[in-house]
Amino acid sequence: MIRIKNEKQIDGIRKSCKLLAALYEEILPAVKEGVSAAEIDRLCKSFIQSRGGVPAWYAENFPGAACISVNEEIIHGIPHKRKVFRSGDLVSLDIGIDLGGYISDSAKTVAVGEISPRERELMEVTQKCLDAGIEACRAGNRISDISHAVFNTARAAGFGVVYEYCGHGVGLSVHEDPNVPNFPSKRGPNHRIVPGMVLAIEPMLTMGTDDVDHLNDNWTVVTADGTKACHFEHTVAVFAGHTEILTAL
Ligand code: MG
Repeated sequence: MIRIKNEKQIDGIRKSCKLLAALYEEILPAVKEGVSAAEIDRLCKSFIQSRGGVPAWYAENFPGAACISVNEEIIHGIPHKRKVFRSGDLVSLDIGIDLGGYISDSAKTVAVGEISPRERELMEVTQKCLDAGIEACRAGNRISDISHAVFNTARAAGFGVVYEYCGHGVGLSVHEDPNVPNFPSKRGPNHRIVPGMVLAIEPMLTMGTDDVDHLNDNWTVVTADGTKACHFEHTVAVFAGHTEILTAL
């Protein structure tokens, strides 16, 4: 069931999202060579809690405030203290905040030190996929318009697209209907996008394969071929005449 949000709910979700955007602004510069994922997770946790929020992934029993996925890790990476960033790493942060019952969700990938030109392109194209997906997320369009926009942008540049995980409704809980696939899907309903929808749009691209594996820590999703991955995500709210990126400052 898709939960259409009223104005008061969108206001609450927006506050949660702005807090998350402010968190990224403060935290991202700290993702550097020699810093561990556990240290970044600690910074995220204290930022969120000092402002009256709760890390949203706690409700899912994830062992951290931030999913921190490095290189071939795509999503749901655990912020271990032995996960120390090195030059050449692609580090994806995926964070959600529960602020008074309103949930935000956003992901960003940053490069540590020197990365290759093709890896730089992966980051740029994933960001472009997110922009294209948001552009297609208009009242009157369908969810498949977002999927096509993301997929076509990724494939035009020759990158892998993760099929197994996708965007989703968000705002009153961490994962709501509808699913927002990053590929043209023939399965399931292809909902019309209507005002009051709040969606997390989150392209996940890889340097190689579309296929994923799961580590035996029960969380971490990695590329099946070991190539690096990239992930960008915004929470957006749909209005009659426009779509607002809630997790942008
Ligand atoms: Mg998400």
